[in-house]
Amino acid sequence: MKFAVTSRGDSNSNTLMQKIRTYLMDFGLTYDEDQPDIVVTVGGDGTLLYAFHRYRSRLDKTAFVGIHTGHLGFYADWVPEEIEKLVIAIAKTPYQVVEYPLLEVYIRYINGGRESRYLALNECTVKSVEGSLVMDLEIKGQLFETFRGDGLCISTPSGSTAYNKALGGAILHPSIEAIQVAEMASINNRVFRTVGSPLILPNHHTIVMKPVNDVDFHITIDHLTLLHKDVKSIQCRVAPEKVRFARFRPFPFWKRVRDSFISD
Ligand code: NAD
Repeated sequence: MKFAVTSRGDSNSNTLMQKIRTYLMDFGLTYDEDQPDIVVTVGGDGTLLYAFHRYRSRLDKTAFVGIHTGHLGFYADWVPEEIEKLVIAIAKTPYQVVEYPLLEVYIRYINGGRESRYLALNECTVKSVEGSLVMDLEIKGQLFETFRGDGLCISTPSGSTAYNKALGGAILHPSIEAIQVAEMASINNRVFRTVGSPLILPNHHTIVMKPVNDVDFHITIDHLTLLHKDVKSIQCRVAPEKVRFARFRPFPFWKRVRDSFISD
């Protein structure tokens, strides 16, 4: 089996990365940074997000497992003291794999057929460069509302505990194939009106955001922020691809939520 290890880059995570690499090679596994079957991340959720994007083109062939060297992560749920146990479990293939839904984002541009496709593990956010964001929202091809406010956040179920949660969105179990749309400070008065509640869209339902005035936006895909100019539309739906996590012990989602946000 081929493996790769990525680190957040701090000295603690780097030391741990070296140890894991040596241990796994001692077990006869092959280190392959380009085509790994399993990727071990050492750091936090951000390190796992980074690794997800690095191996985006081979998601069907790669499984991820995360170790956290800071506070408990949502994706990074192993602690440094457990690495020997984890290494033995990895070496003893086959392991169980759980799959979580992803968000597919298409950004299309004015003048020309150019389009960009992105996959998000957590979410995509859209904010204007200046002033309020004003967007027509279409759901399944029908105008739903004209949004005015700070921005919009479209998240995956596993990303629902990240930015989406801070916006008052619901926490979704990752077995639900859906995406969630959450508002950032919408303007609601006698003139402007939005639904005001987070929306949960099932698989195959598409939401399209179409600019009303400005056509330049700050769009984030997980940790990545880009300025997109001359945007015609932003389309979001559940992606056909999934992310695969290697599971070596049960860690139910609701326990993870409790340990992260209530008490461990
Ligand atoms: P970061 O260093 O600012 O860390 C963000 C925090 O979000 C970390 O504590 C991380 O553990 C946590 N996190 C990430 N994914 C999570 C998930 N799925 N469930 C629960 N917590 C999660 O940024 P980063 O490490 O580069 O991560 C980028 C993420 O930060 C974005 O995808 C977004 O979800 C999140 N974010 C959150 C807010 C907010 O809550 N107001 C604002 C901006 C970005």
